[in-house]
Amino acid sequence: MKVVVVVGGVGGARFLLGVKAALGLPPIGEGSSPHEITAVVNTGDDVWMHGLRIAPDLDTCMYTLGGGIDTERGWGHKGETWVVKEELAAYDAEPSWFGLGDKDIATHLIRSQMLRAGYPLSAVTEALCARWKPGVKLLPMTDDRVETHVVVDDPDNPEQRKALHFQEWWVRYRASLPAHSIVPVGAEEATPAPGVLDAIAEADAVLFAPSNPVVSVGTVLSVPGVREALRKTAAGVVGVSPIIGGKPVRGMADECLTAIGVETSAEAVGVHYGSRQTSDTGLLDGWLVAPGETVHVPGVAVRAVPLLMSDVDATAAMARAALELSGVELD
Ligand code: GDP
Ligand code: CA
Repeated sequence: MKVVVVVGGVGGARFLLGVKAALGLPPIGEGSSPHEITAVVNTGDDVWMHGLRIAPDLDTCMYTLGGGIDTERGWGHKGETWVVKEELAAYDAEPSWFGLGDKDIATHLIRSQMLRAGYPLSAVTEALCARWKPGVKLLPMTDDRVETHVVVDDPDNPEQRKALHFQEWWVRYRASLPAHSIVPVGAEEATPAPGVLDAIAEADAVLFAPSNPVVSVGTVLSVPGVREALRKTAAGVVGVSPIIGGKPVRGMADECLTAIGVETSAEAVGVHYGSRQTSDTGLLDGWLVAPGETVHVPGVAVRAVPLLMSDVDATAAMARAALELSGVELD
C-alpha cells in the first residue's frame, strides 16, 4: 500500500509514528514492510539564521521518526546542549530568540553547505535521512524558497504594518501580535519537489495529519499543482482535525485560523478544506473529529474517533481510522 501524508512539524511527526505503526512498521526507524509512506512536509517555516538554513518541520519529522527527538519539548535533539547559542548571545548576535542547539547546528551546517553547493533541498533531506533512517520518505513540499510571512501592526510603530517571518511571529512573539494576513511568500512561483505529485497520483490513501491547517497543511496546499493532484488522485483523501472542543490541542493554531477568517472548530476547518466530491475546489473525502463533536461538512464523510496522540497505540488507532475512512483495506 502507498500512503501519502501531508504534514507540518510536531503534530505531523507524531501522526506519522502512528501511520507507521498502523501499517505494521516500527514507529521509530526502518523496518521491512510492503507498505510505503511518503510525507509531504511543509517548508514555509524554513529560515536563514546566522548563515544557516533551518528547516524546522523537516527536522522535527526526521528526528522524531529516527529516534533523535527531545520527546518533552517535541522539537530538537534529546540531550541537546546550548554552548553556541550562549556564545552568540555574548556577541549580542541577533536573532537571540531562536533555540539553536549545538547538535542541531550540525544538521544545519550540512544542509547549508549542500544548498550552497547547489544541491536541492530534496537531495539534502535524503542525505540527512541516510543517518536518521526515518522509515518514511520525507519530501519537502518544494525545493524552491517559500517562507511564510505574517503581517502585523509594527510593535515599534503602531501606525504602520510590518511583515514578520513566521518564525519570529511564532517563536519570539508567541503569536500574540494579531495577524492581518499570513502569506507563503514565493509559493506562487514554486513547483512541487520531485516525487510529490507522483506520490499523490500513485497513492492508495492520502491523509492530512492534524497539523496546523494554515501554516503547515495550508502552506503545502499553496504550492501550485498540489491541490490539483489531490483533487485528481484515485486515492481517498482523509483529514484529521487538530481542533478538539473548539481549541487546538497544542499551540496557537487558533491565531492562524482567525487570520484567514476561519473559526476555530473541527467543523469550520473541515469546511475550509472542503469536499472533493461536491465542490469545485474541495480536497476531502473524509474528516476525522473527536468523539462528542457534532460536525457536518457537506459532501464529506465525517467520523468521530479519539484524536489525542497520547502514545503510539492511540495514534496508530487514529491512523487506522483515517486509512479505513479513505477506503483502503487493512489486515
Ligand atoms: P508544528 O509545525 O510543530 O507547529 O506542528 P504541526 O503543524 O504539524 O501540528 C500542530 C498542530 O497539531 C496543532 O494545531 C495541534 O492542535 C495539533 N495537535 C497536537 N497534538 C495533537 C493531538 O494529540 N491530537 C490532535 N488531534 N491534534 C494535535
Ligand atoms: Ca511548523
